[in-house]
Amino acid sequence: MDCPYCDIKGHRREVHVHLVEMHGKEIQTGYQDDRSRMFYRVDCPACQVKIERTIKPRLKDRGFLEEYDREIRLVAFDMLLNHIEMLHPAKEKES
Ligand SMILES: [Zn+2]
Ligand SMILES: [Zn+2]
Repeated sequence: MDCPYCDIKGHRREVHVHLVEMHGKEIQTGYQDDRSRMFYRVDCPACQVKIERTIKPRLKDRGFLEEYDREIRLVAFDMLLNHIEMLHPAKEKES
């Protein structure tokens, strides 16, 4: 499949790792106002849909987001790839 942000192509697993390494800034994270939940969000580059999830932090300390930064990116980009596979399948065949 294609990277949704640049011209890189590869198997889903390779694109997934590439997204985490190169496009991590596309994932927005933060706490909701009352700090009881945190959210992570990624906008689909193809249709601009906001793909957002909230989770209850397992830890209450403020280091949570930093500590789980990479995990959150992995999960968030997995959601994005699922969305793209369902709604924006590549027109050309996988080589
Ligand atoms: Zn890319
Ligand atoms: Zn989309």
